[in-house]
Amino acid sequence: MAKKTLARKSPKAQSPRSKSGKFVYFFGNGKADGNRNMKDLLGGKGSGLAEMTNAGLPVPPGMTVSTEACTLYYEEGRKTPAAVDREMIENLKKLEKAAGKTLGDVKNPLLVSVRSGAKFSMPGMMDTILNLGLNDQSVEGLKGKTNNGRFACDSYRRFIQMYGNVVLEIPKEAFEHEFEAVKKAHGAKVDTDLDERALRDVVAKYKAVVQSKSGKPFPQDPLQQLRGARDAVFRSWNNARAIEYRRIYEIPDAIGTAVNIQAMVFGNSGDRSATGVGFTRNPATGAKEFYGEFLVNAQGEDVVSGVRTPQPIAELEKVMPKAFKELRQITTRLERHYRDVQDFEFTIEDEKLYMLQTRNGKRTGYAAVVIATDLVREKLITPKDAVLQVDPESVSQLLAPMFEPKAWKALPVATKGLPASPGAASGQAVFTADHAVEWTRQGKKVVLVRKETVPDDIHGMFVAQGILTATGGMTSHAAVVGRQMGKPSIVGAGALEISEAARQFTVGGKTIQEGDFVSFDGLTGEVKLGQVATQPSEVLQVIAGKMKPADSDLYRRFDELLRWADKFRRLGIRANADQPDQAETAYAFGARGIGLCRTEHMFFGEGRIAIVQRMILADNETDRRKALDELLPMQRGDFYGVFKAMHGEPVTIRTIDPPLHEFLPKREDLMVDIARLEATNGDKKTLAEKHKLLRRVEQLHEFNPMLGHRGVRLGITYPEITEMQTRAILEAACQLNKEGLKVVPEIMIPLVGTVKELRDQKAVVDRVAQDVMKAQGIKVKYLVGTMIEVPRGAVTADEIAGEAQFFSFGTNDLTQLTYGFSRDDIGKFLGAYQDKKILDKDPFATIDTVGVGQLVEMGVRKGRSARADLKIGICGEHGGDPSSIHFFEKAGLDYVSASPYRIPVARLAAAQAALQTKVGD
Ligand code: ADP
Ligand code: MG
Ligand code: MG
Repeated sequence: MAKKTLARKSPKAQSPRSKSGKFVYFFGNGKADGNRNMKDLLGGKGSGLAEMTNAGLPVPPGMTVSTEACTLYYEEGRKTPAAVDREMIENLKKLEKAAGKTLGDVKNPLLVSVRSGAKFSMPGMMDTILNLGLNDQSVEGLKGKTNNGRFACDSYRRFIQMYGNVVLEIPKEAFEHEFEAVKKAHGAKVDTDLDERALRDVVAKYKAVVQSKSGKPFPQDPLQQLRGARDAVFRSWNNARAIEYRRIYEIPDAIGTAVNIQAMVFGNSGDRSATGVGFTRNPATGAKEFYGEFLVNAQGEDVVSGVRTPQPIAELEKVMPKAFKELRQITTRLERHYRDVQDFEFTIEDEKLYMLQTRNGKRTGYAAVVIATDLVREKLITPKDAVLQVDPESVSQLLAPMFEPKAWKALPVATKGLPASPGAASGQAVFTADHAVEWTRQGKKVVLVRKETVPDDIHGMFVAQGILTATGGMTSHAAVVGRQMGKPSIVGAGALEISEAARQFTVGGKTIQEGDFVSFDGLTGEVKLGQVATQPSEVLQVIAGKMKPADSDLYRRFDELLRWADKFRRLGIRANADQPDQAETAYAFGARGIGLCRTEHMFFGEGRIAIVQRMILADNETDRRKALDELLPMQRGDFYGVFKAMHGEPVTIRTIDPPLHEFLPKREDLMVDIARLEATNGDKKTLAEKHKLLRRVEQLHEFNPMLGHRGVRLGITYPEITEMQTRAILEAACQLNKEGLKVVPEIMIPLVGTVKELRDQKAVVDRVAQDVMKAQGIKVKYLVGTMIEVPRGAVTADEIAGEAQFFSFGTNDLTQLTYGFSRDDIGKFLGAYQDKKILDKDPFATIDTVGVGQLVEMGVRKGRSARADLKIGICGEHGGDPSSIHFFEKAGLDYVSASPYRIPVARLAAAQAALQTKVGD
């Protein structure tokens, strides 16, 4: 108790201070407190506004309340600290002076926008309020000052709606309903058809909505409005869609948003005014062209919300040539300054241009590769910058399928929309985001069809094959989010008459119900009714040798970027490949070696499973050896093919790993077969075989197969399996060495927990290897090593390295055994763990650096302490995951091994890791 009173008395404890000196940063009069390097504190928008102000660009003055204030707001139990409020009021005075207007003034009122803006842009996820400062008096002041009553009332009605929705949490529909009614009563088609009198009517109705829904009149005090808006923006950081967005894009929850309070400029003051958004290059295709949209006599979100159809930005040149010219100059300058594509917002008030935002533009993976290679050609950036600029996942988008041209041509075009994000999409139509998620869970492929998407649809957009909307432009929500997700998207397909309630749409007299197939090409904008087969992307066709590199511009850029990446990376890149064709693909993608060849996958090949079953069913060693002798030439052939496909690069082959029952039929299936045979008086011999199989299956039954008779334990109990596999590997290697291809096989023993297990198996391998080499009359180099995937193996890595010539971390099993999470069952609770923030990410997708990572680090340290030249790699799923690759770089591994299609991602991620972190960090 005493402590509490004390704390209360201390003013310091009551009002926390800023760690960085202050909470509020001013920008205006050509000078800003912040700059481009302050995104952490000012958010992307705030830092961009500061940078543009410092560069002398026309930016309305304002201030940024820092993200630190937001963090404190939450720490104080959703209360803004007094110090933050004080600084805001001080800066407001400065702002009033810079703008030459006063907040709430009856004659010459200052109006401001209150804008959210976090470090990472989260389009449309948080809230912004425009025209703040208007009340029943100042609206008349605005009218008097501008001589434009229509404009003043239009601004006021917008403000009441935004404030009512964002701060007072009144549903938008309550306002929209009134607005539509007034529009109807005045016979107006669009908002600009309403005159001052009609808008006054809207204002009165809106105020009544506020009174009835919130129980209080619309607040008239501008300072109260300002504080309410500021706190609502802080709150919007934790609205459901912002949280969902952060989860998808792995943005930390703790960083908070800044709040920008900025003098308003008006794109809605008449026909010499406009507002718009744009990109310095095409964010869908990467083409170097000015790209964007605008609306005359409009404000803020009008362009992206689809209330009116915006015009392409090129048209601006005709309507307002001076402002257009300036806009082009400024944005070109911004692109050079930031050395990246800029996504900008502007407003023109009475033909004078103002810049309201600039940021590095989000783009499709396709565009990312085109833009990065173009920027290098234009000497705006270096190859190193290009490597750092492209998100590794982008290159995997280039592998996405396209339509099979013949099948695509066979269907007529139903309609055309705006090609917002390239790629082929084909799936069953669904009309709500929730259905998209549900149907996808049932294993269906869906296309999300909406009039227009809203930020709340994000979960459905994430799972859909593609997004198709009837309204909206190239910068609408669906387009922006679709591009960012790399999802094929078409927007503004106006011919679609969509009824979301009836779950259907009509186009050209045809009706498509929920569940019917639709297909579209996000590069051309063509929509077709029906299902269309897809085929591999251009890059894949080149990789498969079906197209010449010279014929594919995209492939050449892809290749160029990855070659640059290869110059900067330290980590070797290997592939997890089990068969020659996979090895070939991996090699073509740039893998130089195989980190994991799973021999048991070869057992499933044609005609082999019966032999494998015979081996398992054998009651004695002699019978088992007979079956193994039959497998030997097949395995030898496989290894020969894999070695050859890798052109002499190292190949790590793992001896048999899974529990044997995986090769036998399921117990239930056998019982059904037997019952049927018995009931139908079936063939006696078959019946006897089935009975024998069933007995063996029951014998092999284990309570925990993952912790059971598998891995090295199989080799120890059945050494003849290890013998056969070693023989096959060495015979293939000898053969190739004789043919002139030098190959060095690396034989890897799985699931080792004690050095004695490895010693046992190594003795078998060495003995057989000597035999083979003697018989073949040739000596070849080979290595024997182990997987580190049992925690005990990592902990005793020094002992194990006494025998092992290399390590490969099997991070799938290592994660499973360290956490005690069965990787086949984690799906049952992972969602709950993530909702409750017990787990951030799926530890099987991204390595748990804190726990599992420590075992990796320990394994590396101890292993190298016993054998300095120990070669160490990783071959779990994590080998193709960019953030895990950063960890492996720091841990000082020699290589990562990933599945063939992840190789391009791994190459780029490894380069970024080498450029951004150091071994041992
Ligand atoms: P978002 O982050 O969702 O884009 P913004 O804060 O950028 O939200 O603002 C929404 C819209 O309002 C944008 O179109 C922006 O250009 C416009 N806007 C914001 N502040 C002002 C201002 N001071 N004057 C005029 N328009 C503004
Ligand atoms: Mg914006
Ligand atoms: Mg394993």
